[in-house]
Amino acid sequence: MALEDKTNQIQCPCGQIIKDYTDYLLLYLKKDMGEIDILCPNEYCYLRELGFLKFSFENDQIKFERGRFYAPYVTWNSTRINEGETVKILRQHLVDITEKNVTWKKIKKGLLSKKMEGEY
Ligand SMILES: [Zn+2]
Repeated sequence: MALEDKTNQIQCPCGQIIKDYTDYLLLYLKKDMGEIDILCPNEYCYLRELGFLKFSFENDQIKFERGRFYAPYVTWNSTRINEGETVKILRQHLVDITEKNVTWKKIKKGLLSKKMEGEY
């Protein structure tokens, strides 16, 4: 087991430390288009959008398609830590965000009710 080192923490280019998936903010503005934005928690961040999740809505079911972080965020951490470690940590962040952070139930409910409205 490697020594715990603060410099090994994931950080946004704005300086905000991101300890784990709970630190990200999620924005559901584009959920009707099957997209959820992943934001930096620092409201003064000049990047704001760190990544996104894509999903589709078929047969009244949400199907997760893919998630990724944008290059500036990944590159920033790759140069600070190292590429292999960064990719590993950020991949886990995406998995955790998708599984634990996103309120899929709520999204589904919203999309379903929207669909009903359209049918009347
Ligand atoms: Zn930031």
